[in-house]
Amino acid sequence: MSDRRALLRHLPAIDRLLSSPRLSRLEQSLPHILIREAAQKVVDELRHQVLDERAPLPDLAFDAVVERTASRAAALARPSLRRVVNVTGTLLHTNLGRAPLCTEALQAISEVAQGYSNLEYDLVAGQRGKRFTHVEELVCRLTGGEAATVVNNNAGAVMLALAALAGGRSALVSRGELIEIGGSFRIPDIMAASGVALVEVGTTNKTHLKDYAAALDSKTALILKVHTSNYRILGFTEAVSGEELASLAHQHGVPVLEDLGSGLLIDLTPYGLPREPTVREALQTGIDLVTFSGDKLLGGPQAGIIVGKRVVIDQLRKHPMARALRIDKLTLAALEATLRLYLDPHQALAQVPTLKMLALPVSELQQRCEHLLARLTKALGDAVACSIVDATATVGGGALPLAELPGRAIALAPKALSVNELATRLRRSEPPVIGRIQDDRFLVDPRTLNAEDEALLLQAMGQVLQSG
Ligand SMILES: *Cc1c(COP(=O)(O)O)cnc(C)c1O
Repeated sequence: MSDRRALLRHLPAIDRLLSSPRLSRLEQSLPHILIREAAQKVVDELRHQVLDERAPLPDLAFDAVVERTASRAAALARPSLRRVVNVTGTLLHTNLGRAPLCTEALQAISEVAQGYSNLEYDLVAGQRGKRFTHVEELVCRLTGGEAATVVNNNAGAVMLALAALAGGRSALVSRGELIEIGGSFRIPDIMAASGVALVEVGTTNKTHLKDYAAALDSKTALILKVHTSNYRILGFTEAVSGEELASLAHQHGVPVLEDLGSGLLIDLTPYGLPREPTVREALQTGIDLVTFSGDKLLGGPQAGIIVGKRVVIDQLRKHPMARALRIDKLTLAALEATLRLYLDPHQALAQVPTLKMLALPVSELQQRCEHLLARLTKALGDAVACSIVDATATVGGGALPLAELPGRAIALAPKALSVNELATRLRRSEPPVIGRIQDDRFLVDPRTLNAEDEALLLQAMGQVLQSG
């Protein structure tokens, strides 16, 4: 112990480190505050390592400590939120930012962000306007709704609708729809937070119209219907249709709200997805209000879209929470641009990345794999064994849980390291590459890669497999 303690004398002083030529030069490109913090952290770490009998002795040579400080400073200077390459085959990975945006949305963001805009300014009247007007007509045109508004995300949309329509009173929900979506969105909690008393009706697998009818009383302000986005109850099941619910609710003078989750604007069954009602179809049942996400299958930015009857939408707009949940101008620009593409469904399918990836035929995925395999083999030589395998992609993001998209992937088996080690190194590479492991192989699913990603993937693979 005392031998190790004696080594502490060799730890350089922070100021001496900072005045080394290497770190002085680094100040031209990195902020001083980060280099100093890096030096302090590195010296602290070294002190702990020296004193830890179980740890191998670190290299205390002055140049080694300087080098370690320089790379630590570079790591501190790297943006925290950055691009990653997604080869998981999950199209809408909530942890990876859900939907990539279309070019039109990126251009709209850039234009609106660079200068001033008519965000809340009516150019014709020359007076204050409303921000939701930029998308309201579009949403109505695409869904058949009378009025629409948008907020920060779908969780916010549901909360706002609950608070505005049923705050201080109660709402009926089927026991089969008391769902949890990842990230603490749980229907009972959301209702409590919105000040709405939850009245559960029916059972887990079967809820009948008479269950709703029996539960309706003078405190009932709303019937809530929730899309069971991320799970399915199979077998002996029954749920009440939108038509029946709307007609029952309207006899009692209360509205029906449906949280659709993903919210399809076009039918995606031709691309192998299960049949889901579109937003238009949901509204056609007579339901008063529908909410859905902007960044799930719609393929736009994070947003909560609310569409339905004008009187109900007006109630939401007047609620104080509407201001707290308001959408920002960059999101609004991206949302408008994405929605405009949907005016021509062929355009949407050709331009919205999520829809493009969804619609990729197996033959195209096979071709991409062959092309990528050739490039990988050329770049990596025999450091890995690569082959093309059948692989199933998923939609993710809590949308269409049972949908499986058949495709192909490249399976990599590194020779000099374990597949877990390969995955770890790829995750920590620059840019980070996120994939999945299946049958002790690292799978590269080309469905979620664009051409630029492919070059980045090759670069990252080269780096991690060559660094021993
Ligand atoms: C995803 C989802 C939500 C939450 O939407 P966010 O846009 O993530 O806030 C709410 N309800 C359902 C049914 C969902 O699928």
